Amino acid sequence: MSQENHLAANHSSCLSRRRFLVAAGVFTAAACLSPRRLFAEGENIVLAARKRAETASIIVQALRGNVSALLGSGGNIAVLTGTDGKVIIDSGYATSRARITDALAKMDPEPIKYLVNTHWHFDHTDGNAWMHGDGATILAHENTQKHLATTTRVEGWDFTFPPSPADAIPTEVFDKEKRLYLNSTTVALSYYGPSHTDGDVSAYFVEAEVLHCGDTWWNGHYPFIDYSTGGNIKGMIKAAEANLARVTDKTIVIPGHGKIAGKPELAEYRDMLVTIHDRVAALKKEGKSLEEAIAAKPTAAYDSKWAGSFITGDVFTKLVFTGA
Ligand SMILES: [Zn+2]
Repeated sequence: MSQENHLAANHSSCLSRRRFLVAAGVFTAAACLSPRRLFAEGENIVLAARKRAETASIIVQALRGNVSALLGSGGNIAVLTGTDGKVIIDSGYATSRARITDALAKMDPEPIKYLVNTHWHFDHTDGNAWMHGDGATILAHENTQKHLATTTRVEGWDFTFPPSPADAIPTEVFDKEKRLYLNSTTVALSYYGPSHTDGDVSAYFVEAEVLHCGDTWWNGHYPFIDYSTGGNIKGMIKAAEANLARVTDKTIVIPGHGKIAGKPELAEYRDMLVTIHDRVAALKKEGKSLEEAIAAKPTAAYDSKWAGSFITGDVFTKLVFTGA
């Protein structure tokens, strides 16, 4: 049964039953919107995603030059290899350690020199401690360091994260821009401004023309927007515009979740965000309540392509309505 059919079949009983699937690093959960939280009663999405990651396999995808991607452990991971040591963008789940270590060893024997976090979310930082233990210096935006270092609640996941252990906290932070140069490659890190969270950064491998967008781009999935730590829909649209403006037809673009692609797919995502935002903003301006906006089904034309069981059309309408 396809995910969509599975969802439809379970929709009527979704308040009493929940099922979790994780595919291609994207959380998927049979959940429906409740007034108080995004998810129905049952096993928490964060715990379920971590549990599912214990058995998730890792797929290696060579991209261009000395840049590759590792898919399958939380957010998509980028790897730059060479004799100066590896640069890794995002660390996936800690439970993927053995599988990620194997994949990295097959690329070359060099250690991890730098780990960059695109933002603080657990599916991108859970492996920080072991990578740091293996010698990596962790870099991130200053807000990412702040969220990892303190107790942080995400309402959208109904979950409160305790402070991360010292080993997992970035030690080199920046505000707007930072550049690394290793393995004859420039890695340009840039802050988006508040978008998916308040600490999102991109990583651009200049010579290879490969861009990692973190969770400012979910290819083929409605994105989660973390209002609890400074994200908002208007910032998500700005970030999508910024991604589109900086890529060429040649750029290989790594989304935080979903398949690696390029400019046409980025444009399609931007158009989807803008159209749904405009529809939801119009409903809000008319004085419609959240429930009325959801009932108007502003995402209907997009759901067959973009809706998953974690972010359904209704959940995405709520995420957009909050910041429209
Ligand atoms: Zn995220």
